[in-house]
Amino acid sequence: APLVGVLALQGGVDEHLAALADAGARTRAVRLPGELEGLDAIVIPGGESTVLRGLAGALGLLGPLRGAVEGGLPVLATCAGLVLCAGGPSGGPGVLDVDVRRNAFGPQLASFETRLDVEGVGADVEAVFIRAPVVVRVGPAGRVIATVDGRVVGVRQGAVTALSFHPELTADRRVHRAFVERVRR
Ligand code: GLN
Repeated sequence: APLVGVLALQGGVDEHLAALADAGARTRAVRLPGELEGLDAIVIPGGESTVLRGLAGALGLLGPLRGAVEGGLPVLATCAGLVLCAGGPSGGPGVLDVDVRRNAFGPQLASFETRLDVEGVGADVEAVFIRAPVVVRVGPAGRVIATVDGRVVGVRQGAVTALSFHPELTADRRVHRAFVERVRR
């Protein structure tokens, strides 16, 4: 089975580890640069992107993570993980050529649950949005794979899959299964 890491600094780490195990992967919590070695893929969970970036920077993870992803390591990034991957002013690894607007659904809709179609995953996938970002620009290498009310909440660029929502907080395991399947191939 593929070995999938979960960046274990903050956020839904345990839920992602459990979902990946359900989906048939071996898993590893990643806190140190050396723990990136030997991974077949990595999940960058949600949380708070500023905190994630600060912790990853302090632990010396940002450079090695960028290097690994640029070298082709498949990524599943969710919510704040998407913000981190977008780089730019957020200063993350910058492995996704997109612009994002953080907390884009506003305070009145800071948190909601819905079902949406995700290309490569399936129809009516359960999705929890918590102070979620929206993708406001997708570069030429990127592909929109999910929308809510016309707003882009899922992008794939090469081996990077980035989602605005939290697939790990529902019982619907299709996002993790599709990711593990893609890693296997
Ligand atoms: N609002 C957070 C951010 O922009 C993301 C929230 C989340 O990951 N649930 O970093």
